[in-house]
Amino acid sequence: MKKPINPEQIRNFETMRKTLSLQDAIKEANRCLLCYDAPCNKGCPAGTDPARFIRQIRFYNFKGAARTIRNNNAMGSVCSFLCPVEKLCEKECSVLALEDPININGLQRFAWEYGKNNGIEKQQTGKQNQGNVAIIGAGPAGMSCAAELAKMDYKVTIFEKEEESGGVAKWNIPDFRITKEAIDYDLSNLKDLGVEIIYNKKIESQNEIPEMLSNGFKSVFLASGISEAYELKLFKGHSNATNYSAFLREIKTKRNEIYLNGKNVVIIGGGSVAIDSATSAAALGAKKVYLISLEHLNELPADKEEIKIARLMNIVFKAGSQITDVISTDNEITGLKGIEIDWIEPGKFNPENVRQIDGTEFSLNVDLLIQAIGTRSGRELEKTIPGIHTKGHGIIVINEDMETNIEGVFAGGDISSTGATVVQAVGDGKKAAISIDNFIKKGGK
Ligand SMILES: Cc1cc2nc3c(=O)[nH]c(=O)nc-3n(C[C@H](O)[C@H](O)[C@H](O)COP(=O)(O)OP(=O)(O)OC[C@H]3O[C@@H](n4cnc5c(N)ncnc54)[C@H](O)[C@@H]3O)c2cc1C
Ligand code: SF4
Repeated sequence: MKKPINPEQIRNFETMRKTLSLQDAIKEANRCLLCYDAPCNKGCPAGTDPARFIRQIRFYNFKGAARTIRNNNAMGSVCSFLCPVEKLCEKECSVLALEDPININGLQRFAWEYGKNNGIEKQQTGKQNQGNVAIIGAGPAGMSCAAELAKMDYKVTIFEKEEESGGVAKWNIPDFRITKEAIDYDLSNLKDLGVEIIYNKKIESQNEIPEMLSNGFKSVFLASGISEAYELKLFKGHSNATNYSAFLREIKTKRNEIYLNGKNVVIIGGGSVAIDSATSAAALGAKKVYLISLEHLNELPADKEEIKIARLMNIVFKAGSQITDVISTDNEITGLKGIEIDWIEPGKFNPENVRQIDGTEFSLNVDLLIQAIGTRSGRELEKTIPGIHTKGHGIIVINEDMETNIEGVFAGGDISSTGATVVQAVGDGKKAAISIDNFIKKGGK
């Protein structure tokens, strides 16, 4: 059972879904079939152990459930808001064969809030006598790896370029989807474990990481994510064209200074970040928000729930469409021309495979244009470790043990994939911690 989404809360940038009440949580946990082989556990990349915390809630052990989540997943609170569960744990739920799956992230959110409000004992700081490890980036991958290593008695230092932790959840994901409280709670657990975080420290100088390894750090974990949003040549040089990353960050940090009342906003893209941008623009009072994508409605990469939210906020989907021309005055876009498309070869979603459909031309008035067409690595880490292997657009190559080609240097999260999920980054961080421990125990560098 999912609580309904309230558009009014989205407009106020308050969390869009209320936490389950105690009664609803027990009722929901009672729907669990208590499967012997717990398929839901296999669907969780971070090993949060939903089967266990659902059972604990069912038997009224709410603090136990909160402990299970915190101990298994350093971003357990954040995940309870953000996990695309229909592709993960809930996809594996046995109840799905009969009716709606168990609301696993709803129960996870109930349990962490219960633990926060009713107090569970803090985790102990480790002995810190196994050696020093450096982590680059205090996002989900870095925080997760740090927590695991601290529990194994390593002294962990995270270097973070921003003034706060949380990565994308902190700086880009809209407040109606994630609360500051959840990010802060996960961070406070990390601090209890004795992890040091050095803020406002961007790792970017030539050879900085090899120098760390020769100056007391036994290993380095790269968890710097990917942050550079792609932009199309077509829109370059226009003052009212931006990208999703800049737009969403502005909303997170100075929402009160953005005025979209009465404006037409166009988003280019059809994925999750495009929907976040569109929903945020609508919440800020835009008159009309259009989402233009090459993909047709049934091909959009965004999750079903995200599309549902966008519909609730009256976003106009111009799916299966291509922009053909920009109309501008004094470097400002005032309008767009477009046309509907079909694919020449089905299933190949790229501009080279497009066939324009005659007679479907359209035009739109535009006040603000936001591009949400993908992200790449900022590539600054390549300078810090000359010779590190990368692929694609600055994605760091790792083996199955999360190790790069440079001895002692490991990587995980978005920097070693192409942008995935918080829970995947947490899983990577946990896996890397085990590999780093093995590496150091075998003698390290
Ligand atoms: C708009 C948006 C919405 C999303 N929605 C969801 C969602 O609903 N559910 C979900 O699961 N996932 C979502 N994701 C994806 C998810 O946020 C990422 O997969 C996840 O944050 C990756 O974690 P990470 O630790 O690898 O990287 P990041 O979260 O990017 O963290 C990297 C950290 O490293 C720091 N850093 C970078 N470079 C340096 C440097 N040179 N020196 C020091 N520090 C550095 C950064 O400041 C940051 O704190 C979304 C992503 C975006 C952009
Ligand atoms: S962390 Fe995410 S994927 Fe794992 S059990 Fe919780 S909601 Fe499901």
